[in-house]
Parts: sequence; C-alpha cells; structure tokens
Amino acid sequence: MAAYSYETHAYDVVVVGAGGAGLRATLGMVERGLKTACITKVFPTRSHTVAAQGGIAASLGNMGPDHWQWHMYDTVKGSDWLGDMDAMEYLAREAPKAVYELDHYGVPFSRTEEGKIYQRPFGGHTTEFGEGPPVQRTCAAADRTGHAILHTLYGQSVKQKAEFYVEYFATDLLMGPEGDCRGVVAWNLADGTIHVFTGKMVVLATGGYGRAYFSATSAHTCTGDGGGMVARQGLPLQDMEFVQFHPTGIYGAGCLITEGARGEGGYLTNSEGERFMERYAPTYKDLASRDVVSRCMTLEIREGRGVGKRKDHIHLNLSHLPPETLHERLPGITESARIFAGVDLTKEPIPVLPTVHYNMGGIPTNYWGEVLNPTADDPDRLAPGLMAVGEAGCASVHGANRLGSNSLIDLVVFGRAAAIRAAEIVTPGTANPDIPKEALDYALGRFDALRHAKGHVPTAALREEMQRAMQEDAAVFRASDTLAQGVRRMTAVAGRMDDLRVSDRGMIWNTDLVETLELTNLMPSALATIVSAEARKESRGAHAHEDFPERDDVNWRKHTLSYVRGTEVELAYRPVHTEALSTPEQGGIDPKKVAPKARVY
Ligand SMILES: Cc1cc2nc3c(=O)[nH]c(=O)nc-3n(C[C@H](O)[C@H](O)[C@H](O)COP(=O)(O)OP(=O)(O)OC[C@H]3O[C@@H](n4cnc5c(N)ncnc54)[C@H](O)[C@@H]3O)c2cc1C
Repeated sequence: MAAYSYETHAYDVVVVGAGGAGLRATLGMVERGLKTACITKVFPTRSHTVAAQGGIAASLGNMGPDHWQWHMYDTVKGSDWLGDMDAMEYLAREAPKAVYELDHYGVPFSRTEEGKIYQRPFGGHTTEFGEGPPVQRTCAAADRTGHAILHTLYGQSVKQKAEFYVEYFATDLLMGPEGDCRGVVAWNLADGTIHVFTGKMVVLATGGYGRAYFSATSAHTCTGDGGGMVARQGLPLQDMEFVQFHPTGIYGAGCLITEGARGEGGYLTNSEGERFMERYAPTYKDLASRDVVSRCMTLEIREGRGVGKRKDHIHLNLSHLPPETLHERLPGITESARIFAGVDLTKEPIPVLPTVHYNMGGIPTNYWGEVLNPTADDPDRLAPGLMAVGEAGCASVHGANRLGSNSLIDLVVFGRAAAIRAAEIVTPGTANPDIPKEALDYALGRFDALRHAKGHVPTAALREEMQRAMQEDAAVFRASDTLAQGVRRMTAVAGRMDDLRVSDRGMIWNTDLVETLELTNLMPSALATIVSAEARKESRGAHAHEDFPERDDVNWRKHTLSYVRGTEVELAYRPVHTEALSTPEQGGIDPKKVAPKARVY
C-alpha cells in the first residue's frame, strides 16, 4: 500500500453532512459552545435538501384548527404502526418550536394576509385524529422550501463560526476497541490530501440512498455513505425494506413534482380522464398517503388505463388552477414541467410515474439521535460517540411510510435534539481519545485498495446492474418470486465488488474513485433492502407484498436489523417502542387513539 500522510484535526464534535440535518445539528452544537467541524462532499447549499419543494409540517394552526396530537396521530397512521411512539411524540410536539426557530433565523416563509407563516394541505395530514377534513399543516416558502431552509441554516452556521470542510469526502469511521466512535477519515477532493478528524461525538447526516435505484428523485450524491460506514463497523441498518415511491416523478426524467401540487388542488387522471383516486380513497382522494397513491397509480397502469403511447404513466392536472396560484405557490414546478416534460401546465397535464423518493430505513437511533447497537437483551443499547440524523438515520418516526413534509421537520427537530443531547454529554475542550492504529490502517488500506483496483468491471457498469435489479425486484409491488430473484441478483452483483476496475489513480478530483467509494456504500444499503424485504412476510406501508397482502401485527410489528458483511446479510429484529413519552395525565395522547387499526384514507 502507498504510504499516506495525513493532517489531524481535533474537535469536540464532527458532523458529516451539510444538508438540513447536518446544518441544524452543526448550528445547535456551536450555539452551545462545542467546537464543531462540518465535513461535506458537496458545497453545503448543494445538498439534496436544497431540492425539497413542498414544505415542512408543524401544527401551527395558522390556517384553521390544528393540534400536535393530530399531527402525531397522522404520523403514527402514516407509519402503518411501525414508528416508535416516543420519537413520534417528540417530533410532533417539538415541530412548532423548531419551525418558529427557523422563522427567527430568517427563513423567508410564504405569508398569509395577516403575515403568518403560510401552510398548505399535504397527503395524510388530517384533523380530529383522522376523522375530520384535511388540515393545512405544511409550512411553505413557495415551492422552494428546502432551498430557503438550507441557505438560512448555512448563513447562521457561518455567523456562529462553525468550521466547514467543503468538498471533503468522509471514507470511514474510526472506532475504539469498545465499539466507541472516535473520528472519521476524509479525503480533500480538491488537493488530494488526507485528513483525520477526531471528536468526542461524530454525527452522521449523510442523507438517503435513493441512487441504489435506477430512477429516483434524489440527487446523484444520495449514495447512503453514512449507512455504508456504519455497516463496515458491524453495526446494523434498520427497516431498510421500506422505500418510498413518490406518486409524481416526471415520466422519463424522474424529477419531482411536489405533493404540494395536489395540496393546491391538482388531481390525477387515467386514460379515460377519470379521477380514479376517488374510487380508492373516497375521503382523502388525491391526498391519501404516498404509498397508497403510488399503488393505485400502478394498478391503473396494470389494468390498461395508463396514458401515453405505451399506456405506462398517469396524468397530473393543474391547468384548472388560477394562474396566480401557479405563479405564487408553485413557480418551481411550473419551470420543471416546462424543462423536463415540455409541458405548459396552464394548458396541459404533466406525465407522471411513481419514482423512488425517500428511505424510511437507516441507521437506528433513539429520539436524541444517538446510534443504537442493539443486543437481544438490550434492544436500545447505544454505540457510544456516534449519532445519526436526517434521512441517514432511523429514529424511527416514519416507520413503514413517511408522510410528505415530515422529513424536513425530522431534519430540524432531530438535528436540534442531537445538539441538545451532545451538549449534555460532551465536555468541551477536553482531550480526544487516541485513534487506534488498526482503525486507521483499515480505513487507509481500503481507500488504497479501491484507488488501485484493477479488476474487470467498471464502477458505472456494476452500479447500473445494481440499480436495474433494485428497480425491477424491490418495486412498488413485491412478490415472493421477484424478491427471491432480487436477492439472487443482488448477491451476485455484490459479489463482483472485488472485481472492480478504477482507471484513474490520481488523488485530485478523481471522480472515478469518488463514485467507487460511493458504490461501496450503496451496495450494503441495497443488499439490506432486498434481503429484509424478502424476509418480511406481510404488507405494511411502502412494503406491499402480493403474496401477503395483509398487515400482520402479531408477527411483524417489529423493526428489522440488517448486519451486512460482504455479500451476506444477517437479519435480527427489535421491538417497536409502543409507549409514548407522556401519559394523558401529563398532557400526552390517549393510547387508545393510536392503537393499531386498519389504515384507510
Ligand atoms: C426532490 C425532493 C423533494 C423533497 N421535498 C420534500 C419536502 O417538500 N418536504 C419534506 O419534508 N421532505 C422532502 N424531501 C425529502 C427531504 O428533502 C430529504 O429527506 C432531506 O432533505 C434529507 O436531508 P439530509 O440533511 O438528511 O441529507 P441531504 O440534504 O441529502 O444532505 C446530505 C449531506 O451529506 C453530505 N455527505 C454525504 N456523504 C458524504 C461523505 N461521504 N463525506 C462527506 N459528506 C457527505 C453531503 O455533502 C450533504 O451535505 C424531498 C426530497 C427530494 C429528493
């Protein structure tokens, strides 16, 4: 192996990732006096959060009555009773505070006539514990909410003197002998230098792994790097079988058309011009939960009522909306429809198709963002020194299916929670534990081996095989035979990782090596997804199993843990937290309200 020299940097906290979650955590850490480094492979404001359109959920009640308990109920039901009750209470209760903080930091939210934060309807968000009409709960800055939040949080973090390491690629965690995290190794893409960051706490905020699939709304940088780093240390990933398909990706291009489009009055039609959602979800229609709408669209297409020459997609209609609404509330998607579908949405419908959008699964944590290393006896045991927040983590508030606008709120609520918790357990300015030589040797050895990989398969070719297998075999609808085939295909694809060929051996802007490192992170996530999906013999949320169409709470209301070792995935399970944080006497929700029942919209 080539000898690598490196520079060492000591911090109280090292955050990997500068999306909404990483920036909110970083800002909270520096506000609390912790010396914090934020490492990011792309410039902070280019993180995928910048693309979030529709908005951020919080029961502010600006547009009509709302209550945090209604938000909690909707989240529990949305999760198909797989979410952890304590985390879901924390999310719904803290959401208004977290949004007002964003407002005070300077996020330019759209406003009502009275100057309050504007809120729009979104799928699955209702009133009166699912008995009342849809609620306007999703706070929006036009259809560029993520953009507004990300820029504001970056500005505030710079103001508070957080230290940024931009276009540094974190390759591996550095662990102590007790499984405690002590730092990370990162590669400076611009000048080719290697850096060791040590900290008393490492926070992974690396986002989702949408790019394990062929067609996804997420950025090309969403490669599950945090999940890969964790899996390589023998820690589990949780609930990876639950992958969200967004009903309205633009047909062909895959770019997102926000659910806010339906929130503002848009609706779906089939080849007969029928508003078919009325048949499947009589109460909430086009605003039923995402997994439900995606399945209904797929059924319409299967039954021959798709639109277009190949009858393989669906129409989203917005042309009946007043031009002012399109201009004021949905300017971004007006542009996307023109550029990516060649459609003038004041006149024509947009061709859409369910497209991979979000990963409910991720690195298991408690509601403080602390990473779990469960055992059979202690399913909530901690992995010391390590946190995970945002889409990379699994708290678990989204369970088997995430409600729209509940991710942005997850980023800021749990980014903030991680900072509150870190301030309690980290003493600033104290010496950091040493990095064991073996840990560093492993990380640098792995880097060097990939840099000089001289096998037969180019990274891009193997990546495409993985993406096609996942797209075909871990889709909106799944069945025993396709899942078994998916496991076989993915095991074979993963087995060829040893035969990769990297052509560029350089250290400066070596995108071939970047993509290869990313593939080593996508692969364990993809494998965990297909293997845990094959094992789950029920239908719940986004996991729709044709041979087991019912939800089975007796046998399957439990979290899946996947331990990925090479091409092998070992599965274990841990119980769902069924107890909320507070009792009704303490002002908490009545447990009867959130007891499992059939999920209809
Ligand atoms: C098109 C689109 C629209 C969406 N709209 C909404 C919406 O309206 N409302 C909503 O609630 N949710 C929405 N979502 C979901 C939500 O935006 C995402 O789940 C969320 O933004 C993820 O944020 P994050 O901070 O976890 O990660 P990201 O924003 O993806 O950021 C990841 C960060 O990690 C860094 N990183 C990753 N790997 C490494 C590495 N190896 N080394 C160094 N740095 C690394 C990256 O540089 C980046 O800074 C949308 C998602 C998409 C794709």
